[in-house]
Amino acid sequence: MSDMLEVKDLEVSYGKIKAVKGISFTVGQGEVVSLIGTNGAGKTTTLRTISGLLRPTKGSITFKGQRIDQTPAHEIVTLGLAHSPEGRRIFPQMTVEENLLLGAFTRSDGEIGKDLQAAYDLFPILGERSKQPAGTFSGGEQQMLAMGRAMMSRPQLLMLDEPSMGLSPLMMKRIMSTIKTLQEQGTTILLVEQNAQAALRLANHGYVLEVGKIVLTGTGRELLTSDEVRKAYLGED
Ligand code: ATP
Repeated sequence: MSDMLEVKDLEVSYGKIKAVKGISFTVGQGEVVSLIGTNGAGKTTTLRTISGLLRPTKGSITFKGQRIDQTPAHEIVTLGLAHSPEGRRIFPQMTVEENLLLGAFTRSDGEIGKDLQAAYDLFPILGERSKQPAGTFSGGEQQMLAMGRAMMSRPQLLMLDEPSMGLSPLMMKRIMSTIKTLQEQGTTILLVEQNAQAALRLANHGYVLEVGKIVLTGTGRELLTSDEVRKAYLGED
């Protein structure tokens, strides 16, 4: 598989605080890659830097062969890289449909209606309640909306930050199985999760982040069965 995304020796700081301390990883075309780690490990900072919301202090980010670490965020979206942020960040007063259409703001092609339908096919509840204010949605429904909105830019690479946060086990299963569906439909996925088990089950490759550094890497299966991951992240003895 060719690499769609290559992050090399990446460092990111907030003032004097180094949040990401020289990490390298790749995401191959068609893969699901999971970044796992506890609170404050630097997962969100990494995603925000890839999508152009933060600038690295060192290192490089290459997407489809092109350096993007100095590229403005809105241009990165047009290159085919979308970000569904932590906390979902939907607009509560706007309708479901209006929220979805925001995801297509960089597009001027004639296929936006078709992709709106694709989002409704993926998550039927979005179609059933398309005219309802998004703020009336439950956490799980808002997560579906955030994912649907990110898909509206027609990304080749979709980055998801903690999609399972605050969801019931049933809703979490639903979201995880949709990630699998998106992969089967051809989208490459970079998934950030505190729920290590769910994220590694789906992952072709995984990386474990601890205080800004990658401490372990392997296939999803290798990490799921590794003693270190089981003890530290899966709560097993
Ligand atoms: P979580 O799952 O809790 O979101 P995370 O792995 O995503 O954790 P980050 O949010 O990337 O971790 O945070 C990494 C480090 O950077 C933490 O020590 C955090 O306190 C710090 N940090 C994050 N955002 C800021 C900010 N805006 N200003 C200063 N420090 C920050």
